[in-house]
Amino acid sequence: MTAEFAVNIGKAIGTFFGAGAVALARDTRISGPMLTRAVASGLMAAGCEVVDLGIAPTPAAQYYVAKLGSLSGAIVVTASHNPREFNGIKAIDAKGMELRAEEEEAIESIYFESRFRAAEWSDVGSIRTDGTAIDRYLAGILDQVDADAIRRRRFTVVADPGNGAGCLTTPYLLTALGCRVVTLNGQADGAFPGRMPEPVPENLAALQRVTVEGGADFGVAHDGDADRAIFVDEKGGYIYGDRSFALLAIEELRARAGTVVTPVSTSRLLDDVVRTAGGNVIRTKVGAPIVARVMFETGAIFGGEENGGVIFPAHQFCRDGGMAVARMLECLARQEKPLSACIAALPTYSLRKSNVAVPAERREAVLDALVRLVAGRRVETIDGVKIHEDDGSVLVRPSGTEPVFRIYAEATTPERAEALAQEGVALVEKALRRR
Ligand code: MG
Repeated sequence: MTAEFAVNIGKAIGTFFGAGAVALARDTRISGPMLTRAVASGLMAAGCEVVDLGIAPTPAAQYYVAKLGSLSGAIVVTASHNPREFNGIKAIDAKGMELRAEEEEAIESIYFESRFRAAEWSDVGSIRTDGTAIDRYLAGILDQVDADAIRRRRFTVVADPGNGAGCLTTPYLLTALGCRVVTLNGQADGAFPGRMPEPVPENLAALQRVTVEGGADFGVAHDGDADRAIFVDEKGGYIYGDRSFALLAIEELRARAGTVVTPVSTSRLLDDVVRTAGGNVIRTKVGAPIVARVMFETGAIFGGEENGGVIFPAHQFCRDGGMAVARMLECLARQEKPLSACIAALPTYSLRKSNVAVPAERREAVLDALVRLVAGRRVETIDGVKIHEDDGSVLVRPSGTEPVFRIYAEATTPERAEALAQEGVALVEKALRRR
């Protein structure tokens, strides 16, 4: 990630947007100031007016674009949940949504073919700062929940933004909702001295401990750009994202029946709870931008992924860590029982994961062979191949980032999940042997 690269990506995105105003935000990474200024130069060279929002969670930048309604889009310089040496440049469209794959490919071809728009001397873009994105975002979230009901409960919450962009939002959101707040890794710091940005169990031991020691109602952790929220219950138990997603889905469906959208890889737990609550589930290919698009097109009431990224369309069409925290508080405010008991009441499935190496050039052929091998069984081919059995399922799909096929098996018992995972592995190996 060099300055030269960022200038040209800025030029490519500016060319794609075709002038107009573009918001620019970043997470807390060390290379953020260097890269955002380079991206801003590229955007101005292509004739765009840059509105610098400074450090802000990705959903805060998306909310700014969605609510202002007058921008061509936004760029967020963030590597999300990835380790501290990474960074990334993400484009957001005029509705505040992540781009479609074909739009990203259009930007890539502008970049690789150097088809940059070069503004005339008199049309070179300008730059100004707007420090209101955070306040607008927090006000938007407060509008979505029953703040008085939450305040009456005087919850204690441990917030672990992991030194990322969520440092600027979640502790203040919790305070505004009358919570007693304990922060952990609460200073914006791109060296990520407290923990690595991904809210996975191995990074959250301190949050689990402090939540118990502080007598908190729950703990919450974000990734580097705070579009994901992972919860820890009052006993220090790590709550996997599919379980908090299911609990929040029940909360959304309590108000009104409707559609919940999630990728084919999410646990069948979601089907169970949504069906019980009178809603229906639409499955999509893996990827939050796809989930958000399908939600937009179908008028869904809720959606998300199993990694803590959930989407509340009444607020906006993107994963939103801050909104997830507010809704979890609202959910608990309505309950007589603690978070651990709410989670324990959900159905439980055993999960097994595995990988099989498949050379990139054989990816499509192996996938075709897999489809033929499972002919006649109950299968879904939305993304890879998912085989359904009465007591479980196994999904086999090529990874988007590595030359492997990933196998996700899920069943009512650990033994059955293991058997289904092994069947998935065997199927890929058999497909690999076919020429
Ligand atoms: Mg993220």
